[in-house]
Amino acid sequence: MPKVKGARDAGAMVVILRIDARAWAESSSCNMITLQTARRYEDLLGETVAVSPYEYATLFEAKGWFARQRAKARFKLLKAIDPKLARVLHAGERVYYVSKGSLASTGEQFFAGQAVAYYVNLRALIFTTERVILMQIGSNLKPRQIVSELPYTAIRQVKATWTGFCEVVLSNGKKHRFSGMPSAERKFLRDFLEGVVSTPAPTTALAKKSDGLVHLCPHCFTGVPGWPLSCDSCGGGFKSARTAALLSLLFPGLGDWYLGHRRLAVIEMIGTAFLWLIFIIAPALAAAAGEAPEEIDAGFTAFSAVIVAGAHLIDAAVTHSFARKGHHPGKAPTAAPATAIAPTAAAAAPGLTAR
Ligand SMILES: [Zn+2]
Repeated sequence: MPKVKGARDAGAMVVILRIDARAWAESSSCNMITLQTARRYEDLLGETVAVSPYEYATLFEAKGWFARQRAKARFKLLKAIDPKLARVLHAGERVYYVSKGSLASTGEQFFAGQAVAYYVNLRALIFTTERVILMQIGSNLKPRQIVSELPYTAIRQVKATWTGFCEVVLSNGKKHRFSGMPSAERKFLRDFLEGVVSTPAPTTALAKKSDGLVHLCPHCFTGVPGWPLSCDSCGGGFKSARTAALLSLLFPGLGDWYLGHRRLAVIEMIGTAFLWLIFIIAPALAAAAGEAPEEIDAGFTAFSAVIVAGAHLIDAAVTHSFARKGHHPGKAPTAAPATAIAPTAAAAAPGLTAR
């Protein structure tokens, strides 16, 4: 009876989809192959694979040698982001594809340098049943601080351009361009998203108002639109873009240190120290010793001031732009997220909940 069998299969699907991240992590203790125990992506296409939120058949579909190389790269990327992704995914959410790309804008590439802009803007792009998750990663593929999401309903069109960009056009008219994505993946994603984004996006006032791209709380991964300084769901703090920009204005590198881009901050501070040494400190010492020729004095002083002030201003602007890439984690959550509080504990301590 195919009808009954179909119904049972549908029921089984629902059961599988309901399994949450924790149950799936526990199931990995038996002999089933998991993403973390697999040594090659091919291992995950067999029969003895543990239940997971990943659609391995789609993730690692590869025909031909180059396609296998790319599937290997996706395997490496997924393995690196898997522990954090497990905390970001909703119950029942399935992952169909992962890729990576950089969101760097032309302005950032010009003012911050191509390498720095690429590094700060590198994202793992995770295509699920509900949304595109954008997870900031380092060049070693390890997750960094920022996580954002783009619901499929906010996407109007996806274009793969011959100039090497994957361009996502949102229903509010905004565009996000990803660079550094292999062209075969750009084409796959265009086709995949065209299938997903078949229904016209709602043009509600809310959809128009939002960027389409929503940044998630770095503590509990709830969507937090706008730029508040803390998360309503878990109470965790976010870094302030204004503070970051002011610190960089004071001394380039300080703002990036505050945001947690420590390596970049140290490089910037050393660079700034050199600027100060060459244009301010050395000439001042020379003038104090009476060694500077008077005729070039005024011109050189003005030139130095412009160079140094310019460096401070540009860094403040770039830091502000970097800070607005998403929510950077500030102070730890004051309370555990609502879902993590056991009901018995809350009932046993009414005094705590009253505050
Ligand atoms: Zn939160």
